[in-house]
Amino acid sequence: MPDIATPARTQAILNRYHLSAKKSLGQNFLTDLNILQKIVDAANVSDADNIIEIGPGIGGLTEQLAKRAKKVLAFEIDQNLLHVLDDTLAEYNNVKVINQDILQANLPQTISSEFEEKGPVKVVANLPYYITTPIILDLLKGNANFDQIVVMMQKEVADRLVAKPGSKDYGSLSIIIQYLNNTEIAFEVPRTSFIPAPKVNSAIVSLSSRENIDNPVFDFDKFCGFVRGCFLHRRKTFWNNLQGLFGKTPEIKNELKLALQNFDIDAGIRPEKLSIDEYVELANYFHDKKM
Ligand code: SAM
Repeated sequence: MPDIATPARTQAILNRYHLSAKKSLGQNFLTDLNILQKIVDAANVSDADNIIEIGPGIGGLTEQLAKRAKKVLAFEIDQNLLHVLDDTLAEYNNVKVINQDILQANLPQTISSEFEEKGPVKVVANLPYYITTPIILDLLKGNANFDQIVVMMQKEVADRLVAKPGSKDYGSLSIIIQYLNNTEIAFEVPRTSFIPAPKVNSAIVSLSSRENIDNPVFDFDKFCGFVRGCFLHRRKTFWNNLQGLFGKTPEIKNELKLALQNFDIDAGIRPEKLSIDEYVELANYFHDKKM
């Protein structure tokens, strides 16, 4: 049987099961084996690895993962794809498909019950684009510690994830993700590699946790709220955003001025000019001040 992720076999599977890709679930099936190999290589998948896949679709990426990994646990929300996956992945006995919304999954619990043998746990997926950001934040904020996350997403979101201070794509998502991870774009993928072709180009992003963060945040959720608040009005100054976040009473303005003086930050600066370390220090300072 030829591999699932070729244009001819993918089309044959779609025809056989009378499936049409559901736009509402972000269904775009990869049909380029070369790209799939590069994804599996970017995650350095070996037979010691336990893999979580999000959205196996008709099994194109799952198949390539199953050939190289110890076990693949794939979360698919679309019930109509379950019998298709039973069929397309029948020859792989190291794959388990769970019919669940990934955002509702308790990953630490599932990992400990499903992956009996210890080994690295990696997330490898071609993400549904309508919920890319919630999925990534969920993976990072949950209590499962992944050895690596290698995921495909729209190029525009990938650019925001890796953006550096001062660039147009740098914002709250760049700061929150890069605070937690070493983040890089592994390679880009053209629209033509999918059936149906999405409207946008895509990129593979690789995330691995930063070990030994020397300047940790005191309260991660508060840090996220602070950073988001600072970018609420991107075109306004940092000072304006701080007042939007904390308030404009004379006492608060005084506190905010002291904070800026303390860190030698110009009130007229734009939020995208500050580094991740500066955001961490400011968030911790306001946390100490109980603001
Ligand atoms: N892995 C396949 C491939 O690369 O060809 C399909 C990827 S397709 C971009 C995204 C898949 O995610 C679809 O199969 C879709 O049904 C599934 N999906 C969408 N939302 C989901 C969710 N909340 N939880 C789990 N799977 C979801």
